[in-house]
Amino acid sequence: MSAAIYSGRALLSTLVIERGLLGGQAVTTEAIANYPGFAEEITGPELMMMMEKQAKNFGAEFVTADIESVEFEKNLKRVRANGNEYHGKTLIIAGGAAPNKLNVPGEGKFTGAGVSYCATCDGAFFMDRHVYVIGGGDSAIQEAIYLTKFAERVTVVHRRDQLRATKVVQEKAFVNPKIDFLWDTVVEEILGSNRVEFLKVKNVKSNEVETVAADGVFVYVGITPNTAILPKEITLSPQGYVVTDDEMKTSVEGVFAAGDIRQKPLRQIVTAVSDGAIASISAEKYIEKI
Ligand code: NAP
Repeated sequence: MSAAIYSGRALLSTLVIERGLLGGQAVTTEAIANYPGFAEEITGPELMMMMEKQAKNFGAEFVTADIESVEFEKNLKRVRANGNEYHGKTLIIAGGAAPNKLNVPGEGKFTGAGVSYCATCDGAFFMDRHVYVIGGGDSAIQEAIYLTKFAERVTVVHRRDQLRATKVVQEKAFVNPKIDFLWDTVVEEILGSNRVEFLKVKNVKSNEVETVAADGVFVYVGITPNTAILPKEITLSPQGYVVTDDEMKTSVEGVFAAGDIRQKPLRQIVTAVSDGAIASISAEKYIEKI
């Protein structure tokens, strides 16, 4: 979105191709407390709608389409999506990342029937219920806090005895009376008839297995970059993220990357926005040169 704002403002012909809701992972985040300029929390959908409006004000165009392939032909970058072909002089890859699955029996069967990867989307269905959040990172803990708006009890299941989430987020969760923790614990199976009713959990230290009653399961066990459709010419890191330099240049001339899809030390909205601005300026310089 920030690349579109900068490119539009530079009067470059700018097209944003998005398969789903504009705003990616940020649009599924309920409360954003650390984006500069918003002293009070802002919701992900609000912030993303503001960015979209800003990009449109500067002339960026948007299409909803699922990209099937990307090809590079010297100065031409071709993108095929929903049977159409789009081409440009440059391409900025900002495909983000998608939530990982737990990969346990029952997860697929009960997705949408008690298993969710988006508290913002599904939290309200769990009014006065007991839900489990799996994971110990920023997403898990932040969304566990958010779920206490609806659920009567939120149990965080973490495979270690220390959280990965930022300290300030951890502290908020520790003092929240609705949140409790199952430490050193992994989920082995999700059980139920038509929807989630139980979780089979195992303590990894004692190897003790127990079955606990559950109304819902929110899975936040990390993310995987959306690089599947990228051609081999784009160099990826060993972890599968797009490698760029400081100017957001990828291994292909005229192709840039921004946001969570990129190999980088801090994945936050503020760094994604910064990447987008840099990528756009680099794209502009590239266009001037060719
Ligand atoms: P993450 O930081 O990679 O955390 C994933 C968590 O899931 C870790 O606690 C990990 O355990 C656990 N986990 C991984 N695989 C598992 C498995 N198979 N079974 C059980 N647990 C498993 O992912 P994230 O929380 O989605 O965050 C992604 C990125 O976005 C991070 O860089 C994060 O800082 C950023 N983010 C920031 C904010 C914010 O600033 N407010 C909000 C959301 C996300 P271990 O700890 O044992 O590895």
